[in-house]
Amino acid sequence: MRLVVDLNRCQGYAQCVFLAPDVFELRGNEALHYDPNADDAERLRVLRAAAACPVQAIQVEQLDGADAGEAA
Ligand code: SF4
Repeated sequence: MRLVVDLNRCQGYAQCVFLAPDVFELRGNEALHYDPNADDAERLRVLRAAAACPVQAIQVEQLDGADAGEAA
């Protein structure tokens, strides 16, 4: 799976870090680091993190889904 975090939106609330610690990591006060190609095993955690983000900064792309109509 692929995901993107809009770091301009991200306010460092760390909800995502709490819900998917293998994918998201906060270093220092504000710098969010994440794995943009997270393992599919993390999908549920990543979706929970995306849903919990107070500013909806996390976008998830599901390449294997039926509606993966992404323009490359
Ligand atoms: S939950 Fe949203 S605002 Fe908080 S650190 Fe994660 S991406 Fe940033």
